[in-house]
Amino acid sequence: MSNFVEDILKQPALSKEDIVQLLQTNKEERNILFKHAAQIKEEYVGKKVYYRGLIEMSNICSKNCYYCGIRMDNKNAERYDISDKDILDAVRFAYESNYGSVVLQAGEISSPKFTKRITNLLKQIKELSNNELGITISLGEQPEEVYQEWFDAGAHRYLLRIESSNPDLYYKIHPNNEKHDFETRLACLKSLQKVGYQTGTGVMIGLPFQTYEDLANDLFFMKNFDIDMCGMGPYIEHVDTPLYKHKDLLMPVEDRFVLTLKMISLLRIIMKDINIAAATALQAIDPIGREKAIKVGANIIMPNVTPGMYRDNYKLYENKPCTDEEAEDCTNCLEMRIGITGDDIGYGEWGDSKHYYKRRNLSGN
Ligand code: SAH
Ligand code: SF4
Repeated sequence: MSNFVEDILKQPALSKEDIVQLLQTNKEERNILFKHAAQIKEEYVGKKVYYRGLIEMSNICSKNCYYCGIRMDNKNAERYDISDKDILDAVRFAYESNYGSVVLQAGEISSPKFTKRITNLLKQIKELSNNELGITISLGEQPEEVYQEWFDAGAHRYLLRIESSNPDLYYKIHPNNEKHDFETRLACLKSLQKVGYQTGTGVMIGLPFQTYEDLANDLFFMKNFDIDMCGMGPYIEHVDTPLYKHKDLLMPVEDRFVLTLKMISLLRIIMKDINIAAATALQAIDPIGREKAIKVGANIIMPNVTPGMYRDNYKLYENKPCTDEEAEDCTNCLEMRIGITGDDIGYGEWGDSKHYYKRRNLSGN
C-alpha cells in the first residue's frame, strides 16, 4: 500500500512544501524516507565509509558565535594550542591507521603568522605521508590569498558551515558586526570554490528560532550553491554561551537528533553524489548516532585523533563524546560499529567527492 511519503518520493524533484512535510514525518513514515536515501546512497556513492582523522589543533578563537563553547569571551574555556610536533604525531597515527585523510580544525585565527604555520604544517603532512594523505581544513573565514596559499600547500577540501542560510536567523546566533558578517561567510564559500577546493558547508539543526521552512531552505541553499560536501549536525546547547538563555525554546535533543537524520536523508536525495559527514555531535546524543547517519545517507566519518589530553578542552557543546579517550582506543570500537551498518570502510582511500569531479568535468579516483 502506498502512502504519502512514497508518493512524495516518487516525484522527479522535491518542493519546499514536500521537504517541510517530510521533516515532520512520524517514525513509520520516516523509515520510508531513510530507506529511500540509503538506496540512493548505494547507487551513487556506494556502501562505503571514508575516514578523516580529525585533529582539533587549537581552541583559541577570535570570534564570538553565540552557540559555541570556545567563543572568545568564554572565560571558562581553558585554552590550548597543540604543538606542530604533536599535530604531526596525530597525523602519523592517522596515516599508520590507514585513514586516508586528515582534517585540521581550530577556532578562527587570521594572521600572517597563523597562515605560515598552517602552510608549513600542510607541507609536512604531505611529506610525512609520501603525498598519500588527503587533507581537509576547517579554519574559518580567511582572505582568498590565504585559501590559495593553503590549497597550493596541499589542502584540497575545506569545511565552512553557513550555520544557517537565513540571514535573520544567522544574526540571532551571531553578533551583528563586521567579524560575523553573513555576506563575508558567503563570499568565503565562493572563494573556496573559485580556488578549487572541494567545498563543504552545513548547518546546525534544532537551533532556537529555526523553523522547518528554514531547514528546507538550507537544503536548497546547498543545492543552489552546488556544494561538494556537507557536515551538518544537531545544535547542542552549551551553558557558557549567550544562546543558552533560549534553551526553553529547544525541542528535546532526541528530536534534534532525528531531525538531523531526516536532513541527511533529504540532502542525499537532492544531491546524490556529494560527500556527507556523520557529524560528531550526533554521537554526543546517541552513542551510535554516527552509525545511524551512515545508514540513512552519510558516507564520511571523522574519527577524533586529537591527543587525549587536549580533547576535553575542545568543547563546542556539552557531552562531547570520547573526550577522555586516546585515539587508539577509538579505532577498534569504530570499526566494529561501522560493521553493523553493513558498509565497508575505504581504508587508505581519499574518498573524494564524486560531485566535485562532475562539477569540474574532471575524472576522479
Ligand atoms: N572555527 C571554525 C571551525 C570550528 S567550529 C568554524 O567556525 O568554521 C566547527 C563547527 O562546530 C561550527 O561550524 C559549528 O557549526 C559547530 N558548533 C559550534 N558550536 C556548536 C554547538 N553548540 N552545537 C553544535 N555544533 C556546534
Ligand atoms: Fe570560533 Fe568556530 Fe566556535 Fe565560532 S564556531 S566561536 S568561529 S570556533
